[in-house]
Order: sequence, then C-alpha cells, then structure tokens
Amino acid sequence: MRDWQELAAKYFMNTVERVPVTLVKGEGCYVWDDKGKKYLDFVAGWAVNSLGHSHPVLAKAIARQARTLIQVSNQFYSVPQIQLAELLVKNSCLQKVFLCNSGAEANEGAIKLARRYGARHLNSAYEVISVTGSFHGRTLAMVAASGQAKYQQPYLPLPTGFINMDFNDFNAIKSATGEKTCAVMLEPVQGEAGVKIPDKAYLKAVRDWCTEKGILMILDEVQTGIGRLGTLFGYEQFGIEPDVMTLAKGLGGGVPIGAIMAKEKAAVFVPGEHGSTFGGNPLTCAAAYATLKYILDNDVVGHVKTVGKHLLDGLGKLKRKYAFVTDVRGLGLLSAIEFKEEIGKAVLMACLENGLLVNRVRPNALRFMPSLIVTREEIDEALGILDRVLANFA
Ligand code: PLP
Repeated sequence: MRDWQELAAKYFMNTVERVPVTLVKGEGCYVWDDKGKKYLDFVAGWAVNSLGHSHPVLAKAIARQARTLIQVSNQFYSVPQIQLAELLVKNSCLQKVFLCNSGAEANEGAIKLARRYGARHLNSAYEVISVTGSFHGRTLAMVAASGQAKYQQPYLPLPTGFINMDFNDFNAIKSATGEKTCAVMLEPVQGEAGVKIPDKAYLKAVRDWCTEKGILMILDEVQTGIGRLGTLFGYEQFGIEPDVMTLAKGLGGGVPIGAIMAKEKAAVFVPGEHGSTFGGNPLTCAAAYATLKYILDNDVVGHVKTVGKHLLDGLGKLKRKYAFVTDVRGLGLLSAIEFKEEIGKAVLMACLENGLLVNRVRPNALRFMPSLIVTREEIDEALGILDRVLANFA
C-alpha cells in the first residue's frame, strides 16, 4: 500500500496540522481509515456532514443529478437552484438568495451586499463591525473581518473597512457605530472560537440597534445554520431576525455550497454586481435540496435538540467527575469541553487511539459537532470513550 501521508507531505503546501489518519470510507456516523480501523466521527467534516456519511438519500440525489446535468452557467436558469432557493426562503425569515461555493465566499458576498446597501441608502457607508474571536473565513477580507490576531498578523496589510470590537459587548458595538458603518456581522454562536455563546440580550440589543441606525445585521450562520443548534437557523435561538444571513457547511450535507440570504429590502444587487461560475450549479444544489428536504421532512432539528441536550448532560457529568475539566458548553450539536491545562492535543490523540474523532478547537478545548442524525447510543459511545480517556489524565 502507498504511504499516503508521506506523499501528502511531499506534494501539499503545509497549511494544516493534520491528525495521522487517512480516511477512506464513511457510513452514518462512522468512518474507516486505510488500515481498516473504524472511528466514531464527532468532527463530521467540521460540522458539514449533516446526514452523516454516504446517506442514501444524498448519494441518490447526487448520482441522479450527475447523470442529468452537472454544471451550467448562471447565464441560464436551472431547476435545482430554484427549488433550493424556494425551500430556503419558505423555511426562513429571508426572501432572497444568492448561491456560491463556501462559507468565506458567502461572507465576502454579504459584505459586498452591505457595501452596495450603504452606497444606496447610507450615504456610501462601507464599514463593517465584527467582534473578537469571530471566524468568517480565510479570504483576505474575511481575515480582516475575523477578530483574531493569529489569522490577521501574517497577512498585513489587510483590506480596510472592518472594525473588530469586543465579543458580547453591546456598548462596544454602539460606540464603534458611526457615519461610515453599513453593517454589523456576527456569528450567533462562535464555533471556531471554542463554542462561545453570547447573551440572548446582547444579540437582541444589537438587532434593535441596527434597526435604529438603519444599518444591516448580518448573521454568519455558516456553522450554526441548518439545524446545528437545534433550530433550523441559529437566529431562532435568540428571538431575532437578521437582515442578511450566510450559510455553507451543513447546507450541502458534504458537497461545497454556500448561500447569502437577505431580506427583500437588503437584496440590492443588480446584474453584474456579483456572481460566481460554480455558484448554484445543479449538482450541489440537488445535493443541498435533498439534504434540507430530508432534515425538514424528518424533524431532524427536533432530534438535534434532544440528542444535543443528552450530549451536553453527558459532558456535564464528566465535568463533575474530573476537576481538570473547567467548562462544558453547547447548543444543539455544537458543544465543547475545556480543560485547565493545554491538553487538547493529547486528549484528541488518546480519543483517536480509542476510535473517536474529535476536534481540538483551542489548545485547551475540544469541540464536538457530529452529524445531525447521530443517535443517543452513538453519543453514549463517544462519552464512554471520552470518560475512559480522561481517566488517564486525572
Ligand atoms: N464562517 C464560520 C462561522 C465558519 O465556522 C467558517 C468555517 O469554519 C467559515 C465562515 C468559513 O467557511 P469556509 O471554510 O467554507 O470558507
């Protein structure tokens, strides 16, 4: 057998600290490596595989569409993208859709939309306020929007027009708002920062502030959208409605797709102002339609709420059992466990050894984001492995 990891070291740019596992197959919440070892997958492609791996409904939709029509340009109409847009609109508080290929691309487009909105309605205001710890993607502008020095510092100078204020601090947003402000961009829950949940009152206050000032509230729901938090969209948890929302990750169940959604009044693009070659292609749209339709028809969101609580309760028990677990937090199936020391990598490696895939979201924290159809039994299995692993660190 070829040594894939050696070949990867030879051919790939070194951008990610990989775990030494080469995955070759997946089914439901399990994956297998090239040596035949089976793992319970609580990473799910970084919160992507909504229906687990190789779900028959998704696989069938992709195969059928691949045999029918894979790609046409947006110069023409195509049916799957219209069906997907209709499903998204009918199940959200937003009326207009733009389809693209990733989270960063959706966020870039949302910022462009906000700038066009500023140009039309806010005396050419263009500045976007975001917050510390946020993660909006890897493009240059999204690095500027993401309030984390470690992503920004290597790429200075950054595009201008972004201000990063403190997380969960309404007064900071208020004081940063000025004549040049066209939008505030926030994640309902900060996933990449280690599952940081803001106060309910905070998001509500920002919402009201944006309305008062006539600026746009953009919610980056790339990670929190499509059921992840136990509601179809994260904004439902906080009793608010954004003017603009971005989606990606779980939307396609595994295929690369992103979306910008906007209220009618905010959807100010005119032909030629934005676009994408692959965005809205029939293949990924058919996959996303099948994924979303399955989630809606089978109350997967209700399931996420129930099993998400079970996972969080289980993590809570581990916190009570092990003094070095300093915090557990989560909403739906996005949760984290935090340790006193920076043992995240060691715990991850021990979990791996024991057949559980997890994500080390911070040096001292792990993140859990299994498929939305994970069962109670699979959660118990994961918690059992974690318990056995943590016992060795006590
Ligand atoms: N926004 C949020 C909230 C994310 O969590 C991520 C990825 O982790 C992104 C944007 C970037 O998405 P992508 O990697 O698809 O560009």
